[in-house]
Amino acid sequence: MNKLRPQNALGILGNRGRTGGTLIIGLVIAAITLFRYCSTSTYNEYLGIRQNVSISPEEEIAIGLQSKPMMVQEFGGYDSDQRAQQLVKEVGQRLVQNSVASKTPYQYEFHLLADRNTVNAFALPGGQVFITRALFDRLTDADQLAGVLGHEIGHVIGRHSGERMEKDQLLKGLAGAAGVAMGDAQSAQMAQQVAALIGLKYGREQELQSDDLGVRFMIDAGFKPEKLIDVMEILKMASGGQSRPEFTSSHPDPENRKEMIEAAIKKYRKE
Ligand SMILES: [Zn+2]
Repeated sequence: MNKLRPQNALGILGNRGRTGGTLIIGLVIAAITLFRYCSTSTYNEYLGIRQNVSISPEEEIAIGLQSKPMMVQEFGGYDSDQRAQQLVKEVGQRLVQNSVASKTPYQYEFHLLADRNTVNAFALPGGQVFITRALFDRLTDADQLAGVLGHEIGHVIGRHSGERMEKDQLLKGLAGAAGVAMGDAQSAQMAQQVAALIGLKYGREQELQSDDLGVRFMIDAGFKPEKLIDVMEILKMASGGQSRPEFTSSHPDPENRKEMIEAAIKKYRKE
């Protein structure tokens, strides 16, 4: 019987057809979804900008710590080289302690992961920052490492995962309103968010903002910000192969990115 009856994703509207009533319900849900999204507007005091994030910094920290074991496992566990591990932690903490990052509630930790094939670095909400051995080995000095870690701290302070979650909720809500995925909009379980986080890609604007913040933190902590441009070159070379670094995966043009980094260096040097 079921085989013969076409169903939509959840079967909720399956038998009713598209009557005027469901259209109105759809419009109401769309309105509520938009209202809810707009009501998540919050002020990021550390960056002086407004953004749409509904989870609290405490929740960001909790989600980050919860997803951390999965991330570590995914990239071969912690690297056993204690000297290298220590360098990552020292450079990371120097960036935090000498910048606005130290004024935020986030708990920053910097980890070197053992994966020697995947050239990557990433940050979980709340302050957990990772770099793979494959990327670490391509860097030639501590300033370049500061470039990578500064960019990742930018994602944390920029609350980029929180912004993405809000956008995802908005899209799901609107999809639900269209009758495609009704019900999904309500099922914002923590576990799902954690799972979704693994595949979360940052947007273009978020990458550019992280580059900008990375430059700012490097200058604040006495690193050479020009070294972030070296990192772009290193990543460009690395992405010629199989790996798709987080830095280059979400499509800002590397040349354009370099220009923006140079502009950011001028901007923050003047301050
Ligand atoms: Zn990034």
